[in-house]
Formats: sequence, C-alpha cells, structure tokens
Amino acid sequence: MSAPLDDTGLPPGTTGVVTIDLDLLAKNWRALSTLVAPAECAAVVKADAYGLGASHCIPALVRAGCGSFFVATLAEAEEARRLAPDATLYVLDGLLPGAAPALAAIGAIPVLSSQLEIRAYSEFARATGLRPAAALHVCSGLNRLGLTAGDVEALALAPERLGGLDVRLVMSHLASADNADDPMNEAQHAEFEHLRALLPAVRASLSASDGMMLGSPFHFELARPGYALYGGQPSRMRRAPVEPVVSVHARILQIRDVPEGGRVGYSGIWRAAQPSRIATIAAGYADGIPRSASAGNAASGGKVAIGGQVAPIVGRVSMDLITVDVTALPPGSVQPGGWAELVGPAITLEEAGAAAGTIGYEILTRLGRRFHRVYQGGS
Ligand SMILES: *Cc1c(COP(=O)(O)O)cnc(C)c1O
Repeated sequence: MSAPLDDTGLPPGTTGVVTIDLDLLAKNWRALSTLVAPAECAAVVKADAYGLGASHCIPALVRAGCGSFFVATLAEAEEARRLAPDATLYVLDGLLPGAAPALAAIGAIPVLSSQLEIRAYSEFARATGLRPAAALHVCSGLNRLGLTAGDVEALALAPERLGGLDVRLVMSHLASADNADDPMNEAQHAEFEHLRALLPAVRASLSASDGMMLGSPFHFELARPGYALYGGQPSRMRRAPVEPVVSVHARILQIRDVPEGGRVGYSGIWRAAQPSRIATIAAGYADGIPRSASAGNAASGGKVAIGGQVAPIVGRVSMDLITVDVTALPPGSVQPGGWAELVGPAITLEEAGAAAGTIGYEILTRLGRRFHRVYQGGS
C-alpha cells in the first residue's frame, strides 16, 4: 500500500488521510472463507465497518461473495440492507422496544438474547401473522449477552415459546479466544455444544476473528470475523491469514529546534535531554489518537513513521496535534507538508494500540471524521 505522499485528488487543506484497500479487504474475506470452509464466513460490519465506511466495505464484500453480515443496531441494518439487498443480516444488539416492525420490514434477523426479547418477538409474530426470522444468542461464559443455561432449559421444556419464530441460527461468543492456551475456550465450546443441543437443530456460530484461529471444532456452520477482515491480528499467538487493509497518515505542519532542557507540549511532561528537532503533526485525540499515547521522559508512548523511519511521540497528545522527536531522522526526510504514518507498513494497528495501553480494535474504530478517506481498488 503506497503512502499518500501525493496530494493529487486530496481536498485542499487535508490534514490526515485514511487509505482503505478494498481489494485487500475482499482478499482477506476470501482467505478467511477458505480457512473455515465448509463452514460459511460472514462479515461483521458493525460501527460503520469498524470505522472504515460501510458504504464502501459492504459492496466490496458482496462482490467478493459474502452473503451474511452482522451489525449491532437497527440503523446499521437499514444501511446494510440498502447496500446488500439479498444478504442475510443479523443484528447483534437484538430486539429493542418498538423495533420489531422495522426489523421485519427489511428482513433483518435480530439476535435474541433473553426470554424477554423472545416473548416480545413472538408477540409481534402473533399480532402480525408473520413468522419472522430470529437468531438465538446463548451465554457460554462471557456473561455479557445471551440466554443463560436456565433460560435455555426453560425453553427446552416449553418449545412452543419459539413457535411463532423462524429460528435460523444459534450462536455464542468467546471470552478469551485471543489466547489459544486459555482453558476457557474449551469450556465455552463444551457449554455451547450442551446448550445448542437443547434448542432447535439449526446452524450454529461460535467464533469471531480470534476464535477462527482455534481450529475447525470452533467453526461450526458460520464464522463471524470483523477485525481480521480489516487486516487486524486478533490472536496473540496465531497469525490470521490476512493483510493490512488500512493505513493512516497525518500532515507534518512544522519542524522546530528545541534546545537541551526545552519542554514540549502541555504541562511540559517531556524535556529535551539534548538539542532536538521536533515535528508537529496534524492529528490529535479529536482524530482518535489516544491521549494515553502521550510520552514523558520516563514513559514512552506512541510512534509515527516518516519516510519509513520510526520516531517517538514526545509530550502530550493534544486535541489536534502531536509532537514527535525527529532528531535521529535524516534531516531532509522531514518536511512541512510531508506525511507521517500513524498506522501502516511501519506501525501495525496492534503496535499503535499497545503503545497507548489499548488494542488495535479501538484505534481502528475511533479514527475520526477529520481524516479524509481514500478507497483503493474495489471495482
Ligand atoms: C464484534 C463481534 C464479532 C466480531 O469480532 P472480531 O473480533 O472483530 O472478529 C463477532 N461476534 C460478536 C458477538 C461480536 O460482538
């Protein structure tokens, strides 16, 4: 993926660019599809396709052959339906009050997580004479969403409670699949097998991006990757067969010399131990650069790369700006108007996350609206 060092095509005054390679997105989906075959591979496109733009990513995934999508909310489902008229759409947040008619109208499938939701959707089915499609989420140990074991046993004793619904999928979600050695994975797998056997015999789904790397027993009939599609590496120990889709660059505004002892940025948390060159870059916490990527003298923080060479953030990340120490970089390589890579070939999403005490997921989904988005490929 080439750095957007060329201003051609960028609106005047662009301070930052997120570049998204739709061909690589499609390639990643195909690679993950192959990994889980004969299971189906869906695509999780909640939160505007992890911040990358559902309006571009969903059509690219449809063209790649993806037929099932997961979103979190009704509004996301409505957008996804416009972009993928024939796809199967699952709504992870389930059935919210008053949402049943809108869900049924677009043929979206709420993932029902409680007896309350099942009752409400069944009542809607009875009142309308429809038999709407539904998915069931069972809790296998995450204790976040999902029917409890008690709920599932109660349903098994009174299956007529599901009578008005066209149940299509039973799913659950893993807590620690990023660590293949965590015994929780096997425990949740066993609990999922136990609970799904009490429910209608429909397709099952257990794994997101990280769970897919635990091997075929975790694939069931449908896998649900999000992060790995966008090039993230979800597992701490097993590389997903995907390539980075995203790069992020921000403009270098100014370079200044700071004498030994000079302080940089709010509260002066970083002091130059030697005469230093500091580049000020046009991205800050309002753009999704975590303030926790700030760096004083004792603790290091985030990094950028300029001309492929890594330079550390020094001082506080402020709303619109970061300051980086470019003293060690070749003098000609850092120029006002040039670009600093925040995520890309030199700095992975995982590195950007770790340097700020968070994860690549949060870096990806918080990239701000001030970044101009450039889409490559996808035709
Ligand atoms: C977000 C989400 C996914 C996708 O997770 P990734 O780690 O991004 O692959 C899958 N299933 C559920 C229930 C989710 O909430």
